[in-house]
Amino acid sequence: MKHCNSLHVLAIGCALLTPYHSFARGSSEPNLASGKARVYDYTVPSAAASGPADLILYNANVVTVDAKFSTAKAIAIKDDKILAVGNWQLEKYQGPDTKMIDAKGSTILPGLYDSHVHSYKAAISSLEDLQPALDSIAAAQDYIRQQVAAKPAKSWIVLQRLYPTRLKEGRFPTKAELDDAAPDNPVYWNCGPVGIVNSKAIEVSKLMTAGNPPYGEIVRDGKHQPTGLLRNADSALKLPAPAHPPTNKEIRDAVIHLHQLYNQQGITSIGERRTYPESIDLFRDLEKTGELSVRVNCTRLMDDIGSSVDEAITNLDAITNSGRGKLPYGPTGVGDDWVRIGPLKVFLDGGILVGTAYMRHPWGIGPTYQITEPAYRGQLNCDPVILGGLYEEAARRGWQLTAHCTGDAALDDLLNIYQRIQFKQDIRERRFLVTHANFQTDQGWEKCQKLNVAADVQPIWLYEDADSLTKTLGEKRMTNFLSLKTWLEKGLVIGGGSDHMVGTDSFEATNPWNPWLGMWIALTRKTVHDQEILPREKLTREQAIRFYTINNCYLNFEEKKKGSLEPGKLADVSTEHAGRPGARRAPQNAWFCAELSRRRGGTTRTTFRNRVCRRLSREQTVLSRSVAFSRQRLP
Ligand SMILES: [Zn+2]
Repeated sequence: MKHCNSLHVLAIGCALLTPYHSFARGSSEPNLASGKARVYDYTVPSAAASGPADLILYNANVVTVDAKFSTAKAIAIKDDKILAVGNWQLEKYQGPDTKMIDAKGSTILPGLYDSHVHSYKAAISSLEDLQPALDSIAAAQDYIRQQVAAKPAKSWIVLQRLYPTRLKEGRFPTKAELDDAAPDNPVYWNCGPVGIVNSKAIEVSKLMTAGNPPYGEIVRDGKHQPTGLLRNADSALKLPAPAHPPTNKEIRDAVIHLHQLYNQQGITSIGERRTYPESIDLFRDLEKTGELSVRVNCTRLMDDIGSSVDEAITNLDAITNSGRGKLPYGPTGVGDDWVRIGPLKVFLDGGILVGTAYMRHPWGIGPTYQITEPAYRGQLNCDPVILGGLYEEAARRGWQLTAHCTGDAALDDLLNIYQRIQFKQDIRERRFLVTHANFQTDQGWEKCQKLNVAADVQPIWLYEDADSLTKTLGEKRMTNFLSLKTWLEKGLVIGGGSDHMVGTDSFEATNPWNPWLGMWIALTRKTVHDQEILPREKLTREQAIRFYTINNCYLNFEEKKKGSLEPGKLADVSTEHAGRPGARRAPQNAWFCAELSRRRGGTTRTTFRNRVCRRLSREQTVLSRSVAFSRQRLP
């Protein structure tokens, strides 16, 4: 598939998506986009290009997502750019070779942008033994027993990303429960920053006598015996190397396939929030061969910042060094419109789904996260003083900065670091970010306003985890949980994303990455158990669409190039109707139709998925109808 200089439609399944190469330039013009927001630059290049167009989509509901959120009836595209948007058939752009597509009233939106995925890792996970959807400890025990029976004796059994907040029991399993299912095999229940292991895993990894790794904890009971709970300490485990690591070709094919699944849901850009040279090299190769179907903004992760500022800066040098083809892996801005290096990131604290987010107040004793220490406030994964020194130098070298930051105390630390950098260099136009930012505070917002700090946030955690978090933390502490509306009312920018990391299915993956689900959660603030969390924080439909389009472009300095449908911008378009002979409906409705047919066929679906689909089918209809109406009809 070639995608330079000629019209090329990435019609995968049903989506009509048209991302292309090349740049668009424009001058700055501040704009009031959402409430008081002053930050977007909607200025698009003077439409130097003239007709004829390669493609005109007419009889459409074009939701431009421009400054006025105006709608139009037709859009003309030439090469990789939007030539014109208007309320007629755009005949003056029509030439003998122009392809005319009657959109038959379909809604056309800018290509969607997920600001936080791990597509490389998720694609690889699809090559491994697929773990079925497990929604309880009991089901997980059954699965472990099956694995014990199926695998050679003493094999490790690893369960991926079964968060306690998403299990029927609402807690981590105990060591005893894992022992019960696998007395003779080591078991590792991997939830990222936190893991649970059984007695056999403790024995073979010699955790009885092991010391804590840096910034990690092998949690022990009153008799100094490991309880099975590992906080940021999985490096202490003696896990075997994978028996059959996937080949490069397999990884390449899996990444291409996953990106095509993204396309099918209307996604044309992603923020890949953890990249290493091997994934960047692959994206660059796919770009060269024309097989890359989403634009990728590559966050560079520094796993280990080291034990001093000097060491941290040496590590920064190491992750920036030139890669294959002499293209460097940093700083921010290296690359082109397909593969661009994004911000530098570290893991500042743990996670809210595993009880290690670093909080201002103690988490509280309870079984959900096996917390037994009254003063326990979560974990920092690196020293803020060293991080401050590193980030000051990285800022000087041109890096945009972010950090994985889930708890309110971790956010305090990060914003204090940004504030100290501001004393030495002006960062207010640098769009420093917070990644996750689940718990905001008034002081935090004030600092974000002063420093123009934006955030990438994940609505799915509200849907899946807010009920459990409310039980653990109480309603009072949840009053600033994913306060999306307040962020916008403060004139700040937030961008929506999923944190997709394991599996590929848009609903069943961890985390579910379906962008329509993400928007729906932002609109309704409903949880999986049908609770409404902080209804005042509901976004309007306009805000929800911006959240998954132009806002994410802003996060990455790309809003002059894409994120809205305006002349001169890249022609990244998603539509619900490909309009070609035999074309199926897409992408907004594709999943719905697929779900209906599957359900009619009686295929087993998980409860979770059915619940989501029932709800989405209703809400998504409302969403797509709403965008089809004039702006005045939007809430
Ligand atoms: Zn992530």
